[in-house]
Amino acid sequence: MKTIDSIAQELEGYDPQALSATTVNAFLSRLVEPVTAHETVGIFQALGRVLSQDVVSPISVPPHDNSAMDGYAFDGSQLAAHAPLTLKVMGTALAGKAWGGLVGPGQCLKIMTGAILPTGLDTVVPQEFVAVRAELVEAGTDPSTGSGRTEFITIPPNILQAGDNRRKLGEDLLQGHPALQKGELLTPAALGLLASLGIKQVSVWRRLRVAYFSTGDEILSLGEAPRAGAVFDSNRYTVFGLLTRLGCEVIDLGVVRDEPALLEAAFLRAAAAADAIITSGGVSVGEADYTKAMMKKLGDVAFWKIAMRPGRPMAVGRILKDKSGSSPRGISVNSYNNNSNPASSTAAVLFGLPGNPVAVMVTFLAFVRPALLQMMGSTAKAPPLLKARSLEPLRKKPGRTEYQRGTVSTAADGSLHVKTTGNQGSGVLSSMVQANGLIVLHHTQGDVAVGDEVDVMMFDGVI
Ligand code: AMP
Ligand code: MG
Repeated sequence: MKTIDSIAQELEGYDPQALSATTVNAFLSRLVEPVTAHETVGIFQALGRVLSQDVVSPISVPPHDNSAMDGYAFDGSQLAAHAPLTLKVMGTALAGKAWGGLVGPGQCLKIMTGAILPTGLDTVVPQEFVAVRAELVEAGTDPSTGSGRTEFITIPPNILQAGDNRRKLGEDLLQGHPALQKGELLTPAALGLLASLGIKQVSVWRRLRVAYFSTGDEILSLGEAPRAGAVFDSNRYTVFGLLTRLGCEVIDLGVVRDEPALLEAAFLRAAAAADAIITSGGVSVGEADYTKAMMKKLGDVAFWKIAMRPGRPMAVGRILKDKSGSSPRGISVNSYNNNSNPASSTAAVLFGLPGNPVAVMVTFLAFVRPALLQMMGSTAKAPPLLKARSLEPLRKKPGRTEYQRGTVSTAADGSLHVKTTGNQGSGVLSSMVQANGLIVLHHTQGDVAVGDEVDVMMFDGVI
């Protein structure tokens, strides 16, 4: 396990007093380690979990060549340019049943969508393209069709090519090939794909356990009587929502007042129970120093000023697990003992976020979320930033990354444009509700003029 100092030494331009957002991400990706324990879960429990093994396809999907249309199947080599093709209908193939007969040259098979294409037939003409002619069979039944009438179809020239409307065996998934990869986050589409392979259970990494608490003497828990100078705790609720959306197990440790004994107890409970700890407040310069002092005492922690807005101060590192063996009351530790995680068995990763509600959310999205995904064993890349034209001028100083809350919409010409939500104060939480994304003004970027393209990080599915 690398120490904070040794990670810092690996990074070029590491300056804890003016860290760039890129360096923060680079630091965190070196600090955190993925969980190592895994478990098997049923398909309904697998949504949002991360695969701990490749899923190899036990079958091919589709399992046979089959028809993509309701129509007539035939051997496409008989199609000739500029000439119509007339074929005798030998029977009907329905989906779900193999058709047992033979179809030779000059013949075809009426076929329904999804029905197996018999060997030798590689082309389907949709029924609406053909002219059908029926002939009554004199003296009884036609031996090849078994009915009292024979049907013929005529396919007009130049409407079809050999191979059209055939779904090929294995065109979705091929037997023996990986259908899903280790590290993939299981989405609704992935659940459907597992089911299409007949797979009921998958092996996933255990859920990440994240403990969090808010700090500050002025922070009221819900239900407490309002008093002058105090504000209700909002950070625990946004953090709860963000973590739950990410698929983490959450451990809520409440509001902790600025008192060494209370802070120490909270950190130790958090470290004992969780892989990661998120705190808010108490890391800025003007603070009564108890939170920072306790982080230093109980772990290996760096205190940063990040070149960003909002969210300058942040503490990052590890809080060591209490070796005295005292299991905190009410929290089950080591509930997973198959393959215990070496990283989380000695220390929990600490993300000490600033106190301001918008700064908490922005630092979570920019830094904590990617680090937690890595801890969850996910190989997901950061979602791509979109480009939108700014509807207003934006003032921006080069040398820091700014995240402005924005509303992205579609312009008449189909392109995207974006405007800010107005007041960008780091305590204005209503702007996070109003916005549907963050305008990301990068480290070296300067002022933005009306009509300039800016990068936007959309909230969809995240916030
Ligand atoms: P701090 O980083 O502790 O100096 O806090 C910065 C600002 O955020 C102060 O105005 C705090 O009152 C506010 N703040 C801190 N924690 C919370 C919280 N949990 N909920 C709402 N506001 C908070
Ligand atoms: Mg505070």
